[in-house]
Amino acid sequence: MRKAKAEFPDSRVFVYPGTFDPVTLGHLNIIARGAALCDRLVVGIAKGGGAGKSPIFVAEERADMLRAEIADMGISGQVEVVVFETLLIDFLKSCGSRTVLRGLRGAADFEYEMSMAAANAVLYENCETVFLRAHPGATFVSSTMVREIARHKGDLSKLVPPLVARKLHALF
Ligand code: ADP
Repeated sequence: MRKAKAEFPDSRVFVYPGTFDPVTLGHLNIIARGAALCDRLVVGIAKGGGAGKSPIFVAEERADMLRAEIADMGISGQVEVVVFETLLIDFLKSCGSRTVLRGLRGAADFEYEMSMAAANAVLYENCETVFLRAHPGATFVSSTMVREIARHKGDLSKLVPPLVARKLHALF
C-alpha cells in the first residue's frame, strides 16, 4: 500500500445509487443528510435494479416519486435524480464524481456494502464510498418490507411519504 495522498476535487459531487423501488423515509433521510455534506448530490436509479431484482415500478416512475419528494423537501436545486443502466463506476464518471453515498442499517447491510465498496475502489482507483448510518427510526425500513406491507394492504404511513403510499395502494 502506498502512502495515501489527499486529493480534493474542485467540487464535491456525491452519487447515491439504489433501486428505490419505491423510495422510503429511510432513503429520504439519507438524501437530506448526504446533500448537506456535498455541493451536488445525484440520486442514481438503477434501471433494472441490482442482480436478481425485478422492480415493481419502472425506473421513470421511481424517479418521478423521488423528484416529487426532493422538490417537497426544498432541495431540488442541489439534488438531481438520474436513471442509469451502466456499471456504477461509469455512471459516477459521467457525473464528474468519485464518491458513492450509501446508507447502513446494521450488520446485515455491512458485508454486502463493504464488498461493493471494495469492488468499486478496485475498478476506479479514486472511488470512495461514504456511509451514513440509518436514522434510528428507520433502521428496520426497507423497500422489500414496504412492498410486502402494501401487498397485504397494511398501513404505510410511517414508512413512506403519502404520495408513495398512494401509488402503492393503487398498484395492489
Ligand atoms: P440497492 O438495490 O442498491 O440495495 P436500495 O434502494 O434498496 O438499493 O438501497 C439504496 C441504498 O439505501 C443502500 O445503501 C441501502 O443500504 C440504503 N438504505 C435502504 N433503506 C435504508 C434505510 N431505511 N435507512 C438508511 N439507508 C437505507
